Amino acid sequence: MDKNALRGLPSIDELLRASELNMAVSTSSAALVAECARAVLDEIRSAIISGKRGGPGRDEIIAMTIERLSFLLKPSVRRVINASGTILHTNIGRAVLSDEAADAIALAASGNMNLEIDLATGERGERDSLVEGLIKRLTGAEAAAVVNNNAAAVLLALNTLSEGMEVVISRGELVEIGGSFRLPEIIRKSGCILMEVGATNRTLPLDYEAAINANTAIILKAHTSNYRIIGFTSDVGLKELSSIGKRHGVPLIEDLGSGSLVDLSIYGLPKEPTVRESIEEGADLVTFSGDKLLGGPQAGIIAGKKELIDKIRKNHLKRALRADKLTLAGLEATLRLYLNPERLADKLPALRYMARPLSEIEKAAVEARVYLENVLGPDYSITIEDNETQIGGGSLPGRLLPTKALAIVSGSKGAQEIFTALLSGEPAILGRINRDRVILDMRTVDSARDLALKMK
Ligand SMILES: *Cc1c(COP(=O)(O)O)cnc(C)c1O
Repeated sequence: MDKNALRGLPSIDELLRASELNMAVSTSSAALVAECARAVLDEIRSAIISGKRGGPGRDEIIAMTIERLSFLLKPSVRRVINASGTILHTNIGRAVLSDEAADAIALAASGNMNLEIDLATGERGERDSLVEGLIKRLTGAEAAAVVNNNAAAVLLALNTLSEGMEVVISRGELVEIGGSFRLPEIIRKSGCILMEVGATNRTLPLDYEAAINANTAIILKAHTSNYRIIGFTSDVGLKELSSIGKRHGVPLIEDLGSGSLVDLSIYGLPKEPTVRESIEEGADLVTFSGDKLLGGPQAGIIAGKKELIDKIRKNHLKRALRADKLTLAGLEATLRLYLNPERLADKLPALRYMARPLSEIEKAAVEARVYLENVLGPDYSITIEDNETQIGGGSLPGRLLPTKALAIVSGSKGAQEIFTALLSGEPAILGRINRDRVILDMRTVDSARDLALKMK
């Protein structure tokens, strides 16, 4: 151990008098700077005691303190540019919100707002009424409630209508969405008894008929969001399930997952069932996410029969799962865009990315390539290639959209190293690795300017 090195360490007070740290104090706080200096000194002291290092110079201690401080002050929430090849990517927050939704959230955040008050009378209101009228209009439902996410919507609907009773569902629909949403677990956690019917690939009307008994409270149909069963298959459509349910007096719930509000085929995209169709075909309640194909903030929407929604509102779990004011503000502004379907594909980023013409994606790719060649330098080679985008968020499984992507390789760095370097840049860029190359899908990158990247 180097006793002199230990004795030579400056005191906190001495360090804080250094002009660099003085400046840091003026932009953050004296307590934080002192905390960082103390932590740095402790670290150095134990390294000296264990003989791992000698005494540092004052400049080194100051630099270490500043580095520690800037790490502490750096926000955890950072912008990520989505070049991942998945439009609705759960790990980076799914749907990018419209400007309208972002403005509405800012308004709700920066002051008080009419969350649960009727501004006409001053009386207490119901927070869901901020969006219920729009949901009714856009889906044909009699009523609607909003919670935190679709997993909560399914949980709440099942718990309200079927606690202690049986939920009948086809074996082929017991899906796992990822992020630990497993339908069988959600059914159990909502206090219901799972009654699976049919086989994995085939379920027939008779299977439902045979399972329904005096203890049956719900028929549940789930959209098999992220997989498809092909080959020798058969499932029972909503119309038929609805008539089985009616005959036995058992309500039918459809968990649509993504739940589009418009027929996507008008934008040249594959057809996905809409909430309106589900209600027209006889679902008594439909549950769907706010941040998948709908293109809004994270939310779960339950739409359907007024009598059932009223029961759901009275459930104390609704209080625990309710959406907050920012979500409701963003959701309302998003739903409002649907009143004008002609402009929807301009206004709603999720839809704009899905409907984006290949020529425009290619133009962005050409610009981005020039830009990145400049930033990354001659060690890198960047080519533009045909590739495919997936919709994500469990929407339209197996349907891929043609796209243009940048493929990046480097003379000295492996793909993993390039991938992580792009992720730790500012802003972070999320690509993917394919055959030892980093692929940046340009469908979801608005322009080369978005990549205004500073590499570390
Ligand atoms: C995505 C999905 C869910 C979960 O929705 P979250 O909004 O992520 O909670 C539930 N059911 C289905 C069928 C889904 O696709």
